[in-house]
Amino acid sequence: MTATFDVIVAGVGAMGAAACSALAQRGARVLGIERFDVPHPFGSSGGQTRLIRKAYYEHPDYVPLLERAYAAWHELEARTRTALLFQTGLVCAGPPDGVLVTGMRRAAQAHRLELATLAREELTARVPALRVPSGFDVLFEAQGGFLLCERAVAAFAHDALEHGAVLRARERIVRWDVTGDGVHVFTDKDHYRAARLVITAGPWSARFLAERGLRLRVTRQCVGWVRPQRPALFAYGAFPCFLIDDDTPGASGCWYGFPSLPSAVFAGPSGLKVGYHAPGPVVDPDALDRALRAAEEARIHDGLTRFLPEADGPLLAAQVCMYTNSDDGHFVVDRHPSYPPVVFACGFSGHGFKFAPVIGEALADLALDGGSSLPIGFLSLARFGGGPR
Ligand SMILES: Cc1cc2nc3c(=O)[nH]c(=O)nc-3n(C[C@H](O)[C@H](O)[C@H](O)COP(=O)(O)OP(=O)(O)OC[C@H]3O[C@@H](n4cnc5c(N)ncnc54)[C@H](O)[C@@H]3O)c2cc1C
Repeated sequence: MTATFDVIVAGVGAMGAAACSALAQRGARVLGIERFDVPHPFGSSGGQTRLIRKAYYEHPDYVPLLERAYAAWHELEARTRTALLFQTGLVCAGPPDGVLVTGMRRAAQAHRLELATLAREELTARVPALRVPSGFDVLFEAQGGFLLCERAVAAFAHDALEHGAVLRARERIVRWDVTGDGVHVFTDKDHYRAARLVITAGPWSARFLAERGLRLRVTRQCVGWVRPQRPALFAYGAFPCFLIDDDTPGASGCWYGFPSLPSAVFAGPSGLKVGYHAPGPVVDPDALDRALRAAEEARIHDGLTRFLPEADGPLLAAQVCMYTNSDDGHFVVDRHPSYPPVVFACGFSGHGFKFAPVIGEALADLALDGGSSLPIGFLSLARFGGGPR
C-alpha cells in the first residue's frame, strides 16, 4: 500500500532538513527523502563552516529574515543541545565605492545595525595578520561569525525526527506528479503520496523545476584548508571571519575565510579555511569532478599571499562543491505556478546557508497555510516573469 503523509520534502540538505524540522514542529506528518546520507558532502551544504552576517550587502531586504534566522539558530541550538553558531566577529574590506562596502553600509543604515569602520591602527591591533590594500575601507560586524554546516543539517534532522518526521536516506526521487488525490512521489525504491510537496533539491532542483520557467545555473566551487605558517595568529578566539572584495580588474567576487578550528572541538580539518565567492564554471551536478585542480590550489595560495601571507602554509584539505545560481543571485522561494500543492526553495547562489531555519519556516507556512507572514515576497518567482506553461 502507498504510504501517505501530509507533506513530502524532496531533498534533505540544509533547506530540506530545516523544512522537515519546521513542518514536524507544526504537527504535520512529514516524509523527507534524500538520495545520499543526512548530512553528506556531495551537494551544497558540506565543508564544515558557513559565514553568517547581518549587514547584508546583497540587499537590505534580507535583514529582517536574518534577524529571524539568528533567533531561530539559537532556538535550534537549545532544542537539540548542539552548538552551531559562533560569533567570532567578521572583518570586511573593499574599495569605498565597491559592492561589498556600499552594500553593507546601505543595509546597516536601513535597519540600524551596528557596523564599525576600523581605522588602520585598529585593524592592525585587532587582526595583525590581515593585510588590506591601502585604499580599502575596513568594516567590522561584531555579530558576524560562522555556522557548523554538517552539524546544523544533522541537528535539523534530529529535531525533525524528535517531532515525528520520517526520513529516508539513500533513496532517489525519480519524478513527481499531481493528481486529484494529492502529490505522488516516485523514487528508485518506492512510491509515496502526500497532500503537499516541498522541493528543496539544491543543485538538482532544475531536474524538477526547470521546465516551469525557472533558470538555474549550477557552478563548481572550491575551498581549501591550510596549516598557517604562524598558527597562533589565526587560531579560533584570536582571529575573526573575513570577507574581502576582490578589486582585481575584471573580478567580481570576494575572498572569505574562517579562523583555524581545533578539530577536537569542531570536527573537520584543523586548519584555516579559505574560499572565493563568485560563481565558478558551470557544471552538471551528476558529473562533478571532485578532484582539486592544480590551478585551483594555486588560486587558494594566491588569495592567501595577497591578504594573509602568514597563513599561507601547506594544504591540509580541500572540497569541491556547488552553487545553484539564479539569474539575479537572489533566492527563489515560492509556490509552484502551475501546481498549488507544490512549493519550492532553490537558487541560493552561494549565500543561502545562514537563512536555512527561516527558509524552513517559510516553506512550512507556504505548504500548510498557502502563504507566509515572513517577508519573502522579494524572493518570489514572479520577478523573472515566469508563469504557468
Ligand atoms: C563552497 C560554498 C561556500 C558557501 N558559503 C556560504 C556561506 O559562507 N554562507 C552562506 O550562508 N551560504 C554559503 N553557501 C551557500 C549554502 O551552503 C547553500 O545556499 C545551501 O547549502 C543550499 O542548501 P540546499 O538545501 O538548497 O542544497 P543542498 O544542501 O545541496 O540540498 C539539496 C539536497 O537535495 C538532495 N536531492 C537532490 N535531488 C534529489 C533526488 N532526486 N532525490 C532525493 N534527494 C535529492 C541532494 O542530495 C541534497 O542533499 C556556500 C556554498 C558553497 C558550495
